[in-house]
Amino acid sequence: MHAGLKRINISLDSLDRTRYAAMSRRDALDRVLAGLAAADAAGLHPIKVNTVVMRGVNEIDVVPLAEFCLRHGYRLRFIEQMPLGPQHGWDREAMIPADQILDQLRAHFELTPSAAGAAPAEDWLVAESDCHPAGRIGVIASVTAPFCAACDRTRLTADGQVRSCLFAHTEVDLRTALRAGASDEDLAELWRGAHRSKAPGHGIGTAGFHQPTRTMSAIGG
Ligand code: SF4
Repeated sequence: MHAGLKRINISLDSLDRTRYAAMSRRDALDRVLAGLAAADAAGLHPIKVNTVVMRGVNEIDVVPLAEFCLRHGYRLRFIEQMPLGPQHGWDREAMIPADQILDQLRAHFELTPSAAGAAPAEDWLVAESDCHPAGRIGVIASVTAPFCAACDRTRLTADGQVRSCLFAHTEVDLRTALRAGASDEDLAELWRGAHRSKAPGHGIGTAGFHQPTRTMSAIGG
């Protein structure tokens, strides 16, 4: 908080230690849960938890994760798997579409669409039950119902590159300009320029789609 951090998103794909370790390639579930609790204690609210559901891997975690997040007051968002992984092995058939995630959720929770509908998540209000308080869950249909036309996201990577889209094949190098003494206005103009050439959509599933070289872990979400 003192360093200017106000919000945090945490990836958590399973509450099962073995499945978590298999998916993330590290036995670190305890550390993630401790991190969530620490973020909560530090007041970084609302704490957002991102989950990617994969067929045959962690579908059984949908409801437990939802109950866990509702109980703790975390904002869980299920996100359709996108072709941004390190193996370049995305398979549309292995992706669980948002509709199927919602079917699972509706079987266990009373959901009402949230009027707030904070893009890009499709936001749902969850009614209180004996097991959890009322809360919110998001289901982001980034592949099956892309919202690129309404996307106002811009991303600055840890190495100083502006990305106008997760799937951009080009980046604008702010770090070099900054080190060369660029003014704030110069940097702002470079940043604006990155977005003038932004593609109209991600094009996943089209013949011309190619996964960008930079993977999600190197973009930072
Ligand atoms: S424009 Fe790019 S970053 Fe924005 S929603 Fe579409 S794919 Fe995602």
